[in-house]
Formats: sequence, structure tokens, C-alpha cells
Amino acid sequence: MTATPVPPLRTPAEYTPDRIAEIRVSSVRVPLPHAISDAKVYTGRQKPLTEVAVLLVEIRSSDGCAGMGFGYSLRSGGPAQYAHACELAPALIDEDAADISRLWEKLVWLNASAGSSGLGIQTIAAFDTALWDLKARRAGLPLAKLIGAHQDSVPCYNTSGGYLNAPIEQVIEAAERSLAAGIGGIKLKVGHPDRRVDLQRVAAVRDRFGPDLPLMVDANQQWDRPRAQRMCQALEEFDLTWIEEPLPAHDVAGHATLANSVRTPIATGEMAGSSADLEKLIDHGAAGVLQPDAPRIGGVTPFLDVLAQARRARLQLAPHFVMELHLPLAATFPGQVWVEHIEWLEPLFEERIRIADGRMHLSAAPGLGLTLSEQARALTSDTRLIARPR
Ligand SMILES: [Mg+2]
Repeated sequence: MTATPVPPLRTPAEYTPDRIAEIRVSSVRVPLPHAISDAKVYTGRQKPLTEVAVLLVEIRSSDGCAGMGFGYSLRSGGPAQYAHACELAPALIDEDAADISRLWEKLVWLNASAGSSGLGIQTIAAFDTALWDLKARRAGLPLAKLIGAHQDSVPCYNTSGGYLNAPIEQVIEAAERSLAAGIGGIKLKVGHPDRRVDLQRVAAVRDRFGPDLPLMVDANQQWDRPRAQRMCQALEEFDLTWIEEPLPAHDVAGHATLANSVRTPIATGEMAGSSADLEKLIDHGAAGVLQPDAPRIGGVTPFLDVLAQARRARLQLAPHFVMELHLPLAATFPGQVWVEHIEWLEPLFEERIRIADGRMHLSAAPGLGLTLSEQARALTSDTRLIARPR
């Protein structure tokens, strides 16, 4: 028997740093097709949402590699993120683009006076994501493969069709369109001032689509503890996949009590401003389904830390919004995971996520697999190039 010859090991060339040569920071305002309202609008706390302010960061290295990252804000904060990004960017020039952990720390320390969560950390997220995109592109790997993928597709559910301002007939039509497009589950906003309206709307969707539809609800923090307890118990009969943000986001103890007393899993975490905030939710057993948001907690680097913590705690994972970034990150998680289908950022990119059989499928393109569209340039209100002096 002759053995198959084994090819000789490829010896990589010696590593040389790939220095960051220039960074373009841009502020982009993406209008929504329709103004939307969740419970925060119905309780008079916020106005309907009409646009998303996106902070774009494009990094180029001395080897000619490129990476793109983004963050976002809703209702306010966009101009401040842009100004802060212009302030932080020079600190990365001439740094080795591969040193992501060190560069994240460098930006965090530069940002120390601005705080360890909120606007400053959200601004860092765009740089961190751009560095991960660049690293994966340089390696010729999709981001999920660079990190270590667990699956090539992730279950997904739609949120954008289930807002409180849409009459229930419209919600059902939108759900029909989502399911026909291959999306696997439907989330409905609740938290209407009249609790009977919530229960009627959930019942209508459950009746229309039957017991097998993965169905979630999101109260957007609008109940107090007694009301949340009552509503969560009333919702048990609908066999929901989860009940999201039944209480104010900072009420860790309240979420923990609910999570222990209700059969339906409690989901929360989207408002967390740092991985430390999420750690607190995990440590107190406040969530059965954890909902981290990479742009809100500082980017891919801290998100991976959260994934490791969620894995150790045996939690389910359902990252908040930004499916373009959260799909590849969710694909690395070994437990039950969902990606949220909200198409608001689609105008920024040439590519569309492939959705079929209830799942979003990873792109085979390197990095995030995203290319900025002409429309992204047209929607850009401010832009600045920070470059190494020539
Ligand atoms: Mg939510």
C-alpha cells in the first residue's frame, strides 16, 4: 500500500506590521421608510423614530488593506459620536492594525474621562469593528470564520413589522410577508397603555399563524414590577419564545425575579452600555435570553467577551438590531441564538443577507462582506479624512 504523499508545510513569511495609514470618519443619516413607535412613544417618553444616525469608520493600512466599521444612535447622539470619532481617530494612525486588543484599550483609556459606557464607548465600537473587518479581509476569511464559526446560518425573526403604531391587520400582513421571505419568527411590540390591546394583538397573531410560529414580544421597558408580573403571567398561555424588556433596563433585580417566576424566558440586555453591564445581568440571573448590541458596548472585541460569558452561563443569545454585524458574530455562538431582522441599514450596503428556511445565511465574502453603496455616500452629512502626515 502506498501512502498518499503529504504536501510540505507552508512556511508563512515573517510577520511585519501593517500600519494604519488613514481613517475616514463619516456621519450618515438613514431615513426610515415610515416613522415607527414602540411603547416608549405610547407612554409619552419618546417621539416616533424617523431615522438612524450612523457613524461610519473606514480604515486603510500601509499594505493597502481596508476595513469598515459602524455604530449608530437613535433620536440623538449622532453629531456627538461623529465629533468624538474625529477626536479619537489620530490616536490610531501608524499603529499596527492587527493589534486590536491593545488598540481597543488605547481608545478606552483615551476616552476615560468621557465614561466607560454610552457615547464614548459607542464611538470606539466603529473603530474596533473596522479593525476586525480589516483583519478578516487581510486573512481572506469571512469574519465568522476568522473568529471561529459554529454554524453557517442562524435562525432569524422579524421586528420591523410589529410596531405598536401599526394596526393589527398591518402587523399580520407584514408577518405574512416576512414568513414568505423565509424569516423564521415574528416579534410583536407590546406595552400599550391598555393591557387588553396587547393581549388581543398577541392572540390575533398566534391565532393566525398557529402554535408552531416562534413568537416573541417586546415591552421596551414600559411596565413597573406589578404590571410586568401580571402581564408576563397573562402572556404564558401564548407559549412565547421570550418576553423582552418587561421592566426598565437598569432594574436587574426585577428582571431576575421575573426570570425566576415566569415560565417564558425573559430577554434583556440591548440597553447595556458595556460588557460590564451585561456581566451584571448574567451574574444576577436577570436574563434567560441575552441581547447584547455590539455597537452599544464598544464593538466586536467586548462582544466576544460577552459571548464567552453567555456560553458559560448557558444562556440563549439574541443580539439587538444591526443584523449586518450581528449575523457573523451570532454564528460563532454554540448555544441557541437568534438574529433580529430589521432592514433599516440596508440602504447603506450593496449586499443583501440571504434569508431562507427561517435562517440568515453567512456571506462567503471576506470580512463583514459589506460594500458601501452610492446611497450611503449620498446620505453622508459630514466626513473627515485623518491621515499620516506626508
Ligand atoms: Mg427590544
